[in-house]
Amino acid sequence: MSYSDLFTFAINLINPTCLENTDFKKIAALLQTPARILITTHTNPDGDAIGASLAFFGYLSKKHHKVKVMIPDPDPEFLHWMPFHENLLVFDLDQECCLEAIREAEIIFSVDYNGFKRLANASVEVRNSKAKKILIDHHRNPENEYDLTISVIKTSSTSELIYNFIEACGETHLIDREIAECIYAGIITDTGSFSYSCNFEKTYLTIAALYKVGIDGEHIHRLVYDTYSENRLRLLGFSISEKLVVLPAFHTAYISLSKEDLDRFDYQIGDTEDIVNYALSIKDINLAALFSEREDIVKVSLRSKGNFAVNEICRKYFDGGGHANAAGANCYMSLQETIRIFLEMLPVYQDQLSKVY
Ligand code: 5GP
Ligand code: MN
Repeated sequence: MSYSDLFTFAINLINPTCLENTDFKKIAALLQTPARILITTHTNPDGDAIGASLAFFGYLSKKHHKVKVMIPDPDPEFLHWMPFHENLLVFDLDQECCLEAIREAEIIFSVDYNGFKRLANASVEVRNSKAKKILIDHHRNPENEYDLTISVIKTSSTSELIYNFIEACGETHLIDREIAECIYAGIITDTGSFSYSCNFEKTYLTIAALYKVGIDGEHIHRLVYDTYSENRLRLLGFSISEKLVVLPAFHTAYISLSKEDLDRFDYQIGDTEDIVNYALSIKDINLAALFSEREDIVKVSLRSKGNFAVNEICRKYFDGGGHANAAGANCYMSLQETIRIFLEMLPVYQDQLSKVY
């Protein structure tokens, strides 16, 4: 243990980390012996899912574990620059390799999601595995299907939790620039570049620690946000100018994109990310939705301001979930039917939507 790790360890004794009421000590003890570990994250993986998984991959590899990382389906191209990215196994693209990784794993981590259901096509195999199953996540309502759990809601992201975990183990000396870059990318993407889910002093202390390791934050922002294809930017423009519907009486705005709309702009994975946030950026709009029609589902993304929570709405009306201000679902109805349910639900919340703070 280095001097600075010893110092953090001592500070944590006086001022416990946010992991205090979790199983982190048992998990730390388990990781003292090298093991075959599989890290998994959720379908439609975002920056935090990939950042947290790859940071954890880097850390566990340094601790001499045999580590694999599996995602259910491909991640967007703007995340492909991340360190360790070449190690990702994609279930939908290489089932054989993924099934072998699941079969041989002694420990399986669920990172940045709260139940195996969110592993899409990989969920049954992972759930049935005999491996020890461990959750590290910041979504509400974790499923009761884990041997050990780190579930913390009041944090920016799972990437920050990975940092907290390494710190609580007294091992920040293992965080090199590559691991720090993954953690940083996870935090910025899950907070909209520090605009939501980040009213925590600890988030900024973590960021400061990552800069100490030598990350170039400005460069990472460019890699994540300034790499739109022309089609992606034109799809954004089209969504705002042609498809945005504003309902002032309900303080709500929504955008719907049909398969035809997406085809017109040669849709690639990740191209609809962030569109919903533009609808929410309108003054006095407290609820924003994006409905995007895919092969066999309609992807629902809800965002809200302040004390109006959308995760319960996603759960109740669309069998989805997420965070208080950012939630989603996959809907097995038509685009029109999905929008109809959404519009019929609005009067129930009209009063709440007019009093958001
Ligand atoms: P997005 O709208 O960006 O796809 O998702 C917003 C948040 O909701 C993310 O934290 C994501 O993990 C979560 N989320 C999206 N879809 C689902 C879903 O079908 N089920 C659950 N439980 N969470 C979801
Ligand atoms: Mn997350």
